[in-house]
Amino acid sequence: MHDYIIRATAAGETVRAFAIRSTELTAEAREIHHTFPVVTAALGRLLSAGAMMGSMMKGENDKLTIQMKGDGPIGQMTVTVDSHGNVKGFPANPSVNIPRKWAGKLDVGGAVGKGMLTVSMDLGLKEPYNGQVEIQTGEIGDDLAYYYTVSEQTPSAVGLGVMVDVDSSVKHSGGFIIQIMPDAAEETIAAIEAKVSAAEPVTTMMDKGMTPEDILQYFLGDLGLVITEKLPVRYYCGCSKERVAGALATISTKDLEDIINDGEEIEVKCYFCNSAYKFSVAELEEIMASRNNG
Ligand SMILES: [Zn+2]
Repeated sequence: MHDYIIRATAAGETVRAFAIRSTELTAEAREIHHTFPVVTAALGRLLSAGAMMGSMMKGENDKLTIQMKGDGPIGQMTVTVDSHGNVKGFPANPSVNIPRKWAGKLDVGGAVGKGMLTVSMDLGLKEPYNGQVEIQTGEIGDDLAYYYTVSEQTPSAVGLGVMVDVDSSVKHSGGFIIQIMPDAAEETIAAIEAKVSAAEPVTTMMDKGMTPEDILQYFLGDLGLVITEKLPVRYYCGCSKERVAGALATISTKDLEDIINDGEEIEVKCYFCNSAYKFSVAELEEIMASRNNG
C-alpha cells in the first residue's frame, strides 16, 4: 500500500476531515536524515500534519511551511509541502536519545521542548500568511490543534502517530485532522468530542489494519461521512543547484571570501534531502560578483 491522504466532510459539510497514511514517507525521511527513533516519530508526525495541511491548498504554486522551534534536544524542525502532495522536512538534530516514557512510549514532547510553532503559507498573494502559537506539549498533534483553534479560529482535533519498530524502522505512520466549521451544531461537536476522547492512538488503529478511510469512519461514520477525494502523497525534495546557490548567497561576505581564498571547490548539501552540490571557485566568485552588483 502506498501513502495517501483522504479528504472528507460530515454532518452536511459542517465538519471537514483529513486522514493520512504516511508510513513510506516517514521511512524515507528516516533514511535520508538517519534519525534516531524519537526524532523519526517527531519528524514523521510533523510531515504527516504538513501533508494534510498542504492538501487544503488549491493554487498550483502554493506552499506551506511549518517550523517547530523548541528548546528540546531536537532543536528546530522544518517541514515544507506543496499543493501536489510533495512533502519534505528536516530536524536540526537527528541523533536524539532521551529516556522513554511509560510503557516504552517515545518522549516526543520532551525531545521537542517548549517554544514556538510557526505556520507560513505562500498562496501567491502579495504577503505570505503567517501564524504563530506557543508550543503546548511538543507532542505536535496537540500543538497543531491549538494552532488551528487559536490562530485560525477553527476548532480542530489533530491525531498524529508514528510507530517505530524494535529495529528502529517505521512500522506505521499516519494521522487525522477533524475541523469544526462555524455552522456546526452543538450535538455534532459533542459527538465528535466523545469519539476523540475515547479513541485509541492512530498507530494502534493502523496496527489493527485500519486504513485512513476506516479511521475517519470511526470518528464520523455516525455523522454522514462523505469521502470527497483521495490524493497520493510522497517525500519529495525537488532541489536544484540553483536553489542551493541561493542558500550560499545568504552567508556573510567575509565567510564567502574566506571560502574563495581557500581556492578549492566546495560541496554544499541540501538540508531536506542531503543531495550534495559542488561549487567551483569560479562559481563562488560569480555568486560574490552578483552580490556586489546587487
Ligand atoms: Zn534537496
